[in-house]
Amino acid sequence: MNIPTDFHSHVSYTSALQMATAVIGSIHEIDGLQFEGSYSWSREEGEVLWTQYFKLLQEAILSGCFQVISHPVRMGSRNPHLPSTFDEELEQLASIASSCNVALEINGKDMLAYPHLVYRLACACAKHHTPLSVGSDAHYPDRVAQAHGETEQLLCQVGVRRVRMWKQREAEEYSL
Ligand SMILES: [Zn+2]
Repeated sequence: MNIPTDFHSHVSYTSALQMATAVIGSIHEIDGLQFEGSYSWSREEGEVLWTQYFKLLQEAILSGCFQVISHPVRMGSRNPHLPSTFDEELEQLASIASSCNVALEINGKDMLAYPHLVYRLACACAKHHTPLSVGSDAHYPDRVAQAHGETEQLLCQVGVRRVRMWKQREAEEYSL
């Protein structure tokens, strides 16, 4: 289940949440800006946006509302201005997710569009033994299994041998 909304005000979803197999948290917006729109930013603006994005991802993990955080490098879809701390930010994210037992998603759309960013995410997750989910937060059902072959190759390349899935609301680790 995906809740594409402000996760601080999701109380009305409570009964739906209780039935969900797993709850996916997604960040699509920063201060009202849908950052996947047709924007371009200066280097300085772009770096600030990345920093804000990482902060929101951390908050989503720490909120305790979600079992998965989807597409954690989606900011890269329009914003090429990676901060110099990019890998450190990813590592911090991976470390927090690992300690909270929250999975980070290796997203198929990201994998096809900017695999170099997904590679850096996967390296951080491998280093911190972060649970990984593979696929999509399913805005479009036909994209759920997108790029599974490429993703499997990438995960093997960085030494990840297991992915997390959920069955009847219980997390299970599957070997690749
Ligand atoms: Zn999404």
